[in-house]
Amino acid sequence: MKPMLDKNDKTPSTNGQGSKKPKGGYGFSWFYIMLFVMMLIFSIISNSLTNLNEIDWKEFELTMLKNNEVERIVVVNKEIAEIYIKKDLLTTEKYKSIGNKPFKSNLGPHYTLQIGSVEGFESKLEKAQKDFDPEDKIAVRYTTRTSLWNILPWIFPILILVLFWILMLRRMGTSGGTNSIFNFGKFNTQLMEKGKKSTVTFQDIAGLKEAKTEVMEVVDFLKNPGTYTKLGAKIPKGVMLVGPPGTGKTLMAKAVAGEAGVPFYSISGSEFVEMFVGVGASRVRDLFKKAKENAPSIIFIDEIDAVGRTRGKVNAFQANDERESTLNQLLTELDGFGANTGVIVLAATNRPDVLDKALLRPGRFDRHIYLELPNKDERIEIFKVHIRGIKLDKNVNLDKLSSQTPGFSGADIANICNEAALIAARKKKNTVEQEDFMDARDRAVGGLERKSKIISAKEKEIVAYHEAGHAVASWYLEHVDSLVKVSIIPRGKSLGSAWYLPEERQLVSKKQFMDQICASLGGRAAEEIIFNEITSGALDDLEKTTKQAYTMVAFYGLDEEIGPISFYDSTGQNERLLGKPYSEHMAQLIDKEVQDLITTAYERTKHLLQEHKSELIKLAELLLKQEVVDEEDLELILGKRMTELLAKDSI
Ligand code: ADP
Repeated sequence: MKPMLDKNDKTPSTNGQGSKKPKGGYGFSWFYIMLFVMMLIFSIISNSLTNLNEIDWKEFELTMLKNNEVERIVVVNKEIAEIYIKKDLLTTEKYKSIGNKPFKSNLGPHYTLQIGSVEGFESKLEKAQKDFDPEDKIAVRYTTRTSLWNILPWIFPILILVLFWILMLRRMGTSGGTNSIFNFGKFNTQLMEKGKKSTVTFQDIAGLKEAKTEVMEVVDFLKNPGTYTKLGAKIPKGVMLVGPPGTGKTLMAKAVAGEAGVPFYSISGSEFVEMFVGVGASRVRDLFKKAKENAPSIIFIDEIDAVGRTRGKVNAFQANDERESTLNQLLTELDGFGANTGVIVLAATNRPDVLDKALLRPGRFDRHIYLELPNKDERIEIFKVHIRGIKLDKNVNLDKLSSQTPGFSGADIANICNEAALIAARKKKNTVEQEDFMDARDRAVGGLERKSKIISAKEKEIVAYHEAGHAVASWYLEHVDSLVKVSIIPRGKSLGSAWYLPEERQLVSKKQFMDQICASLGGRAAEEIIFNEITSGALDDLEKTTKQAYTMVAFYGLDEEIGPISFYDSTGQNERLLGKPYSEHMAQLIDKEVQDLITTAYERTKHLLQEHKSELIKLAELLLKQEVVDEEDLELILGKRMTELLAKDSI
């Protein structure tokens, strides 16, 4: 129920990875055209063949046989009688229409007749012709026939299947111009040729000054290798871009491609790992071969952690030989080309801790460029890049926007700018205003407002007290981020929310941790105090506090009883272990300390809220009345915030 602005785990909606569809070899359109033409021919031929004017016995007897118009009858496969009309009659009015049909010769047969049984047919024929002169009697011939047209309906679908299969294999195998089904291990990397430069340039990247300088150096290596090699310097082979999601790693790589003007092979690490054994390794070989042939060139491997995870020490359930052999091949290739061949491999990851050490050693990915989440000034720069195409209102204050979006990545900001424009368009405005940006931010953090969600009056009251509980507790706690707004409008999954403005800090003290836990428990405590009953509404808060307490105790070594011990594993190896890296006794101790910590915090929060019960009730009532309460109203009810008073005192 309490979204914070410092969520870092949001998935950026604009990941800017561009399209990475492999270029198709044989266009599928050809396949469809061929299929269509074949079907057309088939239907014309089969139509004209099968629709051989079928008639019944009565019609045959009365209109043809009795008039002595039939030349001969051929019984085919003891099933069908083919009737041939006398040639001289084909020109008459009666038979004109059957005489000149496409795909059929004039010679006949002109009609067909299902005979039932041969004996029955013969006796009927005999009876019908009993008054005929012997020389007028029609001779019946019998024949057995297996025609191509009979088996065509069977062959045709098989033919289509085979054709489809061949085309699929061709598409899979299209690689380097060789279209063989044996090539299916190879694949198409996204290749941006010299002529078709990436349109992204360094101008599109805001902030990230240090990273940009280093990456620009890489571009310079490729453009003027002589400057470096003549002094005996070796051009680096691998550059690893490291940073949280959405900080612009892919963007940076694209800018390198755009600026350097050399062929650029872009691939995602996960594309190497396939179901088939050996495919990954062959793809790596293929990729490096192509890059070397076109040197100077750049290879960009996104999400390299998909292949580059530490090898070995994997339990039996998670063994992935294919991934390991792919990684081995990658290491071999990185070693395999000399320092000055003009191929530079860029890779991106947000989990450098899990990467195999062999990948990071000098001579391979030895240059690491860190891309951090942007600070306030950098966020202003990023906003500037993304509002380029947007019609802004005069009131938009980028400085304020930037200070209200701490912890947001470049991708989040790009998303907010776009979302703000969409919101303004929905409201039929001519320009995008500050409030549209704020709405977009709130939406990015808490999800979409759902004003129409029906909530009973009682539930609304509980939500109001729950949120008021968070607000009052955090207002009077010294180390909680400042509160900006409380709302009981349902948003996303939550029924109400309290909005905070987190400070940008690198270190969190034990006191800050404890105060944050108390603030998170404020909702549950308020419910208990006011209604003397607790609800399921505190699920999110409890999940968060429990996780926070475990990290405090087991990772940060902040618990007195356990002491300065950390079971955190930066290499990511423990993730794969089935057991825990500590004894059963320690596990019990950790559990007990976490429980103590949370229950103490809960008691403290309850005590605090009892003390300020009248303010709690006032705030909840105001919330019920106007649904959203902002900072000014909060100050009217709760007084100046403690931290601000403290700050004043200290002056
Ligand atoms: P990553 O690869 O690190 O996950 P991306 O490079 O895919 O992130 O970034 C996604 C989008 O976020 C980009 O397309 C761009 O629009 C925006 N973005 C990220 N960082 C920046 C930045 N420093 N300057 C401008 N835009 C950025």
